[in-house]
Amino acid sequence: MNDYLVRALTENEEIRAFAVTARNLVEEARKIHDNSPIAIAALGRTLSAALIMGDMLKSEKDLITIHIQGDGPLKQVLATANSKGEVKGYVSNPEVILPPNAAGHLNVGGAIGKGVLTVIKDYGLKEPYVSQVRLVTGEIAEDLTYYFAQSEQTPTAIGLGVLLNKDVMINQAGGFLIQLMPHASEKTVSTLEDNLKKFHSVTDVYRQGKTPEDLLSILLSGLGVQFLERKEVRFACHCSKEKGLQALATLGTQTLKEIVEEGKEQEVSCEFCGKKYVYGKDDIQSVLSALEKNQKEKGEK
Ligand code: ZN
Repeated sequence: MNDYLVRALTENEEIRAFAVTARNLVEEARKIHDNSPIAIAALGRTLSAALIMGDMLKSEKDLITIHIQGDGPLKQVLATANSKGEVKGYVSNPEVILPPNAAGHLNVGGAIGKGVLTVIKDYGLKEPYVSQVRLVTGEIAEDLTYYFAQSEQTPTAIGLGVLLNKDVMINQAGGFLIQLMPHASEKTVSTLEDNLKKFHSVTDVYRQGKTPEDLLSILLSGLGVQFLERKEVRFACHCSKEKGLQALATLGTQTLKEIVEEGKEQEVSCEFCGKKYVYGKDDIQSVLSALEKNQKEKGEK
């Protein structure tokens, strides 16, 4: 099955829903950073959620970033998506290994620990919209559910899952997001609640060869589903040698001066896709000159 996302509405238009299958792109992310099982479980869940939240964006240029900062060994999880079905992401410490949790599952909550979840919406304006909540469990789906309740005042049900084979390759990955419209009736709410109670897991459904459409039909059973959109999704990074120069600028004038004096090449690897860019003396000198010019102008103001 290709990776894709569907968007749907119940017949009474009281619920909107999204589902994504993302096995191939999560496998690609796993290979790029050689993620441990727990690291790819955390990243795969976050990538799936980012794809869904990316689909909620209005303009093609908008970006959404989910940033999780915990005090656990995984440290940070970050995923950025757009509305075109492109996503990228990484965890700070891809090598984390922990024993399973009490339920015998990968202990993602333990690997993330206590901390904060930040959602950044970039509409291409001067300042992005930033909204932050504390982590509830560190299992990501619960944390995002809490985010929607707190920051957007929208009752939301979210399920995310990554299932690994014994050889650590991804068997299934994806998720769903269901939101109640403000005018949803009590009957709709109770039908949905019953469906959610009976539901087991996203990866269980996909493992049976079922599709995102099937997943939403199960979750919205008895409510009638109309599918509005089906979209291919993929792991994509648009980094370039030129954009990497900006990363060099963050080293600051002093460090850049030293690098120029040493005459060494500087290698910068993209934290999202792992691509490596090598910068020669001239490249670094040009970044340094631009920084110095900038500082001089600021100083004169
Ligand atoms: Zn990249």
